[in-house]
Amino acid sequence: MLRTLFLHPPSWEGFDGGAGSRYQARREVRSFWYPTWLAQPAALVPGSRLVDAPPDGLGLADVLPLARLYDLAVLHTSTPSFPHDVRVAEALRRENPRLRIGFVGAHVAVHPEESLGGSEAIDFVARGEFDFTVREVAEGRPLAEVLGLSYREDGRIHSTPARPVLEDMDALPWVVDVYKRDLTVEHYAIGYLQHPYVSLYTGRGCRSRCTFCLWPQTVGGGRYRTRSVAHVVGEIVQARRHFPQVREVFFDDDTFTDDLPRAEAIARELGRLGVTWSCNAKANVPYETLRVLKDNGLRLLLVGYESGNQRILNNIKKGLRLDVARRFTRDAKALGITIHGTFILGLPGESRETIEETVRYACELDPDTLQVSIAAPYPGTAMHREALENGWLGERALVDGRGLQQSALSYPNLAHTEIFDSVETFYRRFYFRPRKIFALAGEMLRDRRVLTRRLREGAEFVRFLARRAP
Ligand code: SF4
Repeated sequence: MLRTLFLHPPSWEGFDGGAGSRYQARREVRSFWYPTWLAQPAALVPGSRLVDAPPDGLGLADVLPLARLYDLAVLHTSTPSFPHDVRVAEALRRENPRLRIGFVGAHVAVHPEESLGGSEAIDFVARGEFDFTVREVAEGRPLAEVLGLSYREDGRIHSTPARPVLEDMDALPWVVDVYKRDLTVEHYAIGYLQHPYVSLYTGRGCRSRCTFCLWPQTVGGGRYRTRSVAHVVGEIVQARRHFPQVREVFFDDDTFTDDLPRAEAIARELGRLGVTWSCNAKANVPYETLRVLKDNGLRLLLVGYESGNQRILNNIKKGLRLDVARRFTRDAKALGITIHGTFILGLPGESRETIEETVRYACELDPDTLQVSIAAPYPGTAMHREALENGWLGERALVDGRGLQQSALSYPNLAHTEIFDSVETFYRRFYFRPRKIFALAGEMLRDRRVLTRRLREGAEFVRFLARRAP
């Protein structure tokens, strides 16, 4: 086995590019998802090490000496961070000219040859699901025999046939053992999750076809492939052994509620264990299932509402009706489930009027907390193709020179600056309502830990808004 380093490279300060990050960028409030996509192959390569530079506050100077200790480095990249990551790879190569370097992630899965063409320092990129691809490279197999690989040899780029989609999801070992070995769980914080938390996947892929959504269209696929209930529960038991301080488990599957009977089965097991947990959900889960989940430890649902305009939801193929989302929200609230709602501004069909509709809709639904993102046309998504065909893409990247999201899209009726500015307006109108202020203040008074955290996050949020000024 080659001595293998899995590296989530240093980038902009506070850059959240890990697996659970749907929009890789620097956040409103400093927060990090776990590098689960890298932890998975790391669990398959004995003796490897996973280094997650952004949450550990590591810069290039900190990671460079590692280059001399390894034979193989596997870097996770993303469209916004790719130029940065290439510079890190080139520096590692200068440090150790014999180091073999590979890139993984959605960006290189979509553009394998262009990515390899980006720098001589990249020896190979893995396409699609890369867990077993990377393991075979680490075993030292000839690259020509490894499925799902594009690589450079003798100055030319070669590609092997695609790797079949992974069907036996239980073949993936537990990531919590890698977290324990290599990461500091306290460094991972998400504003709406209890701290510290642990997140992992119980399955990959999503049955919905949202045109903007990165992972199912690039790596995960359009079927929800799942691990067995016993495999998942075993990993949670192991996580509790490793991290008794963890207060919450988050299931980062694209849509954990895509398979309702299975979600209920996992919930019942977690209920027996007394685990507090949260997950991603679509806003169409029926009341009966919500009740089972809530009765068995569910604390929070992360829900992609996206827009308050039905035409926009249809444009992006969300497969969701506003009245269904309203009913779902009422049900969840009645059961005492906390909701973190996510919204996107600047989707196809957006106008000043639809932005106003979405702000009003969010205030009406009144999730406990929310996040407003700018529509990001990632290469490999249907929305990116649509934007190219319609001339909506300008010269702007997905993030600016500080790693903050900016609007790469603009429409004849809506400038990119209006989309950008409307994010701040949205946040202010949602959070600066007396009802919301009282609710948040009440939580802070009830729990000292929440008080300390919210004060810090509030200050960060205000600084974020100030930094966003173009
Ligand atoms: S439901 Fe969620 S995870 Fe699934 S495709 Fe749509 S946005 Fe992506």
